[in-house]
Amino acid sequence: MKIVLLGPPGAGKGTQAKVLAKELQILHISTGDLLRQNVSAATVLGKQAKDYMDKGMLVPDELVTQMVNKRLQQDDVKKGFILDGYPRNLSQAKALDVMLEEKGEKIDLVVYLDATAKVILQRLSGRLVCKSCGMNFHVINMPPKTAMVCDNCAGKLYQRSDDNSATIKKRLAVYSKEVKDLASYYQRENKLQQVSADEDAPVVLEKIIKLTRHPAFAGDHGL
Ligand code: AMP
Repeated sequence: MKIVLLGPPGAGKGTQAKVLAKELQILHISTGDLLRQNVSAATVLGKQAKDYMDKGMLVPDELVTQMVNKRLQQDDVKKGFILDGYPRNLSQAKALDVMLEEKGEKIDLVVYLDATAKVILQRLSGRLVCKSCGMNFHVINMPPKTAMVCDNCAGKLYQRSDDNSATIKKRLAVYSKEVKDLASYYQRENKLQQVSADEDAPVVLEKIIKLTRHPAFAGDHGL
């Protein structure tokens, strides 16, 4: 099954995608994680992307689409995937369709995680991320068992440099500008399903799992 998760920063895309990927035994592909790995490793792409990311702006489409295309060529993608953070605009959505069409494939389901501004700000300002496995925690809502240590892999937790109030504001503005076109595009294709993401993570997860089981979206691979 091939799923796209849409939603503002802080809606819980990363948190949901990680658990859902395990549950459905498919891949979790996060363009934010891939870009951050490139920044950490100081690759050519990382150096090109860093400035945009620090400012809360989108990294240019060509760079991100090329990175996604490369990832989608790998063999493990055959079992299905959840895309988290891509597409971010209409041109990326169209590029994704072309990439998949070339392989005779398509997106089965697009889940739009909708969250209110109050919840988004609260989540992002307390978010902690594992340096090793990328798992998300929250200082209040989802604290790790040991302070600043990942429950999953014992990696070190850190606060993302773009989770500060100025960059959050910019990221939300960029998101609001692009999301309408993106949602209409997937709506026209009858793939879009909206889920309120204000509730606790397990409640939201249950709603998404229900959608993946719906015959209209289960895809060729079944579940
Ligand atoms: P995220 O982890 O999804 O919040 O992404 C963090 C940052 O990475 C964003 O603010 C962008 O600068 C960049 N980024 C992630 N995905 C994309 C994308 N699909 N297109 C452009 N920039 C992206």
